[in-house]
Amino acid sequence: MENIADYKEIVEVIKEQGGDAFKRCFQCGLCDTVCPWNKVITFSMRKIVREATFGMTDIEAEDIWRCTSCGKCPQRCPRDVRQIDSVIALRRVATEYMAFPSAVQPIRSIRASLLAEGNPLNEKREDRAAWAEGLGVKPFEQDMEILYFPGCYPSYDPRLKKVARATVEILKKAGVSFGILGKEENCCGESIRKTGDEEMFISLAKANIKTFIDHGVKRILVSSPHCYHTFKNEYPEFMVHFEIVHITQFLFELIEAGRLKIDGKFAKKITYHDPCYLGRHNGIYDEPREVLSRIDGLELVEMAETREDALCCGGGAGRIWMEVPKGERFSDIRLKQAVDAGAEELVTACPYCITNFEDSRITMEYDDVLKIKDITEVILEAIKETEETGEVNA
Ligand code: SF4
Ligand code: SF4
Repeated sequence: MENIADYKEIVEVIKEQGGDAFKRCFQCGLCDTVCPWNKVITFSMRKIVREATFGMTDIEAEDIWRCTSCGKCPQRCPRDVRQIDSVIALRRVATEYMAFPSAVQPIRSIRASLLAEGNPLNEKREDRAAWAEGLGVKPFEQDMEILYFPGCYPSYDPRLKKVARATVEILKKAGVSFGILGKEENCCGESIRKTGDEEMFISLAKANIKTFIDHGVKRILVSSPHCYHTFKNEYPEFMVHFEIVHITQFLFELIEAGRLKIDGKFAKKITYHDPCYLGRHNGIYDEPREVLSRIDGLELVEMAETREDALCCGGGAGRIWMEVPKGERFSDIRLKQAVDAGAEELVTACPYCITNFEDSRITMEYDDVLKIKDITEVILEAIKETEETGEVNA
């Protein structure tokens, strides 16, 4: 297939977006050996880098859309070729020409939904706080300790709403003073940016930043590692700095400070999946494990690929919105790894991971084999167990 954009343009755009790093590649192929795609199909980041260096990228092909930005190959590349930045640069060229292969077509409606309603799920802005119904959650005020920013999936998705609700119940038990922004909250913009839509990212980021400033927000609690990453590492591009805390960190902080007591038992064998944007991208590996280890009766087992080597769920860089045929889903492999480790429950801390794992659980008919949980759901169950039995472990 012919390139839509000409050689010169592709080379120039890549250069603007970190193209010099591309040139450092010496074609060792290490990226291909660690990329999760090569567990399910043949895929070569090395080839993408090679073609881009010479402006030979076929921007209509699906290959440039496959990278989930899992962070494995940048972590291992001996020449610091910033593969994720570079692949996003290629997507920016494709987005400019609206050159979307069929698997990527959903991006069009995602964009329309973000533009109209501030979320990618085609849900109404007015309903953004409906998940909190009956919980007595207040709108954020300046004198509160922290802003809770649940993000799009926990706000609207029926499965993920349970995570937002569990988070609120825990915060209330720990006596945290917190509030939400409700319909003033917008998608953080992390994933749409990774699809190459810089304009949409800037618009969402500016809207959120204005709201944070208008409300006097200083500390923000997030459920999603994607919100965490973009607020912490990308929003400072707009010369603003908020203190960002992921729920796994906050739970650890509350337990350490003696504000959250988990006296109940949770006598199950579980395994913890490191979300890419919590682990590899932000180095948060210990806090979730520490939190889980404080629960009496809980046995934590590790899967085959863990911590820095954790297998991606497949949902990053906008892939959560793209159709992935059966046989190509990383999440299927992850569930098998969890079962092989002897776990009864696969616990994680990311809305995208939970979405993909729940889908795999259905398609793999693992209903009676494995449960998928967010870390907040495990904590809440352990707390509630004490309340129900009245038993407190010494
Ligand atoms: S690991 Fe780095 S240097 Fe090696 S082929 Fe991949 S991009 Fe090039
Ligand atoms: S970042 Fe992850 S998914 Fe993307 S090419 Fe590298 S290893 Fe593959």
